[in-house]
Amino acid sequence: MQLDFLGDLKRTHTNGALRATDEGQRVTLMGWVNRRRDLGNLIFIDLRDRTGITQIVFDKEASPALHEKASQLRSEYVVAVVGRVKKREGNTVNKKIPTGEIEVVAGSSDGDLRILSESKPVPFSPGEPDPAQLPNEEVRLKYRYLDLRRTEMQANMELRHKVALAIRNYLAGQGFFEIETPFMTRSTPEGARDYLVPSRVHPGQFYALPQSPQLFKQILMISGFDKYFQIVRCFRDEDLRADRQPEFTQIDLEMTYPQQESVFKVVEGFLKAAFAAAGVELPIPFPRMTYDQAMQKYGSDKPDLRLPAMVDVKEAFTPEMMQTLGIAPSLPIVAIRIPKVGELSRKERDEIKPLFGDRKDAKLFDDFKRLEKSWPDAVAKVRALVQHSSESAVGIAGVPPATAGETPAATQSQDDLLVIVAGGAQPAEHKSEGGVKPQVVQHDHAVYNAAGALRVALGQKYAERHKLFAGDRKDANSYRWLWVTDFPMFEYDAEGQRWAAAHHPFTSPHERDMPKVLALEDLGSVRALAYDVVLNGTELGSGSIRIHRQDVQRQIFRALGMTEEEAKSRFGFFLEALEYGTPPHGGIALGLDRIVMILAGAQSLREVIPFPKTAKAVDMMVDAPTPVSEQQLKELGIAAAKKRAADERG
Ligand code: ASP
Repeated sequence: MQLDFLGDLKRTHTNGALRATDEGQRVTLMGWVNRRRDLGNLIFIDLRDRTGITQIVFDKEASPALHEKASQLRSEYVVAVVGRVKKREGNTVNKKIPTGEIEVVAGSSDGDLRILSESKPVPFSPGEPDPAQLPNEEVRLKYRYLDLRRTEMQANMELRHKVALAIRNYLAGQGFFEIETPFMTRSTPEGARDYLVPSRVHPGQFYALPQSPQLFKQILMISGFDKYFQIVRCFRDEDLRADRQPEFTQIDLEMTYPQQESVFKVVEGFLKAAFAAAGVELPIPFPRMTYDQAMQKYGSDKPDLRLPAMVDVKEAFTPEMMQTLGIAPSLPIVAIRIPKVGELSRKERDEIKPLFGDRKDAKLFDDFKRLEKSWPDAVAKVRALVQHSSESAVGIAGVPPATAGETPAATQSQDDLLVIVAGGAQPAEHKSEGGVKPQVVQHDHAVYNAAGALRVALGQKYAERHKLFAGDRKDANSYRWLWVTDFPMFEYDAEGQRWAAAHHPFTSPHERDMPKVLALEDLGSVRALAYDVVLNGTELGSGSIRIHRQDVQRQIFRALGMTEEEAKSRFGFFLEALEYGTPPHGGIALGLDRIVMILAGAQSLREVIPFPKTAKAVDMMVDAPTPVSEQQLKELGIAAAKKRAADERG
């Protein structure tokens, strides 16, 4: 086919722009052929670009030559047309699209059609309105350029752009500077595996891609920049779960002299701006809850506030009852309530047990009727406790009742499913002198964790019935936010038999817990000035107030079982920087991809990342990773132990 050049043709309008009021104008449009309908004497072309679709008409009688040329058009050809805007008549108006009142008549004496580019037959049509007709995701990812042409993907990328821009504008308005930090650096402390970049100039040496700009942003505070942010790519070589990407984007920030609340305010501000960009008015501030409260009421450090909290019902149980039921009297007993589940059949009831799983440290009582037969008073008491808790809307620190209150569905009804989770056998550690040891707390945690996991699983299983997850995306009430504070500073790594940093080792412990850190005692109970922001049961970001004192930093490394040499070799540059006048500072990082995914109502991060990788970390479009040439390896001084053929990836 003879293709045309653009020449000096200039686009006058985009394909979403023209309205009835433009009637009679001579316009020049450009775009892709979304669809061609050939009715003999008339050919209709739907011309598409980022902004929409305009119908173009070629009439054989008005211009046989242009009509003939238009008959050669196929899907996804790129064309320029010159024509006149004409109002459509009566029943030919297309109410489904904004330009549906008009069409552009190109096939006339002053019209023109230039075929700028042709297209091979497409593996799937970007104009396909029905998502069910799309091929599988691998094909979409291989032909990502076609996939991205789809209206839905164009909208997702536009949303991403607007959200990022709103965040940038907000933070800039608050005095934050966007400052870049290097991608080729050395290992950072987030604790995942690094992606390494070999150095040709220094054979055998490697850069690491940053898991986050953590140490750089802290150094920027030491460097006097006061408030820093960056919308930045981070790289973590983790075993990929369905919703993880090896490279992802964080909204990363750091500020000097903050209390936790100063960080919360900034984050609430930019999230409000980001959601406003998507048409959602978020009420702020968000509720706050300590880690301990979250564990006790929700059995999770990322509570989903859309479901009712768990209720402590221990007082309903007599010692005899606990003995008969085989419940450990020292451990928690909690009730889980899932609203509006209705009467369960025997079979449905049997499906609950597998959700709970086979656990030694916690027990499930899912048959309330049976309990009621033997202990009617106790069950009445449980119901009363649950009732009471559903009436007293959770008062969450620092938040007006309107935003802290539970959803209306939290009020108890007859239709609700109630189950009880308690501790199994009495943990041996309870025999020891001196009351609560960290291990004992862990047994409490085991019960809370088991209950919390079941609560979420039941919530998902009966989502169709309680409908608490079915919120409208544009309605602020669909988003249940929460700050979780006072996380434990250390986690015991049973395998390595040592304490590990629960957030990262630059997180400050609570001032009041410093004596324990100095004495290296009872580390399990040390609280950190670390916090997470949680949305509908998903952690969207975490951060902390940092250690700004070199002596404290050293002691933390000691607590983590790191020798002075080790600390020096990993973070020496940073420890040194701390010695030159470090202001107190703190910050946070939130996942941008996830925020956009939620706002787009998308099911996967890949729907909101322009060029994502598959769950196996493969880029289907460019086909990466790939083996490299012997020559490249030689230059880098690297010998591959085993060449991975592309087809080995499976
Ligand atoms: N760098 C941390 C992370 O990526 C966040 C922070 O502490 O600011 O999880």
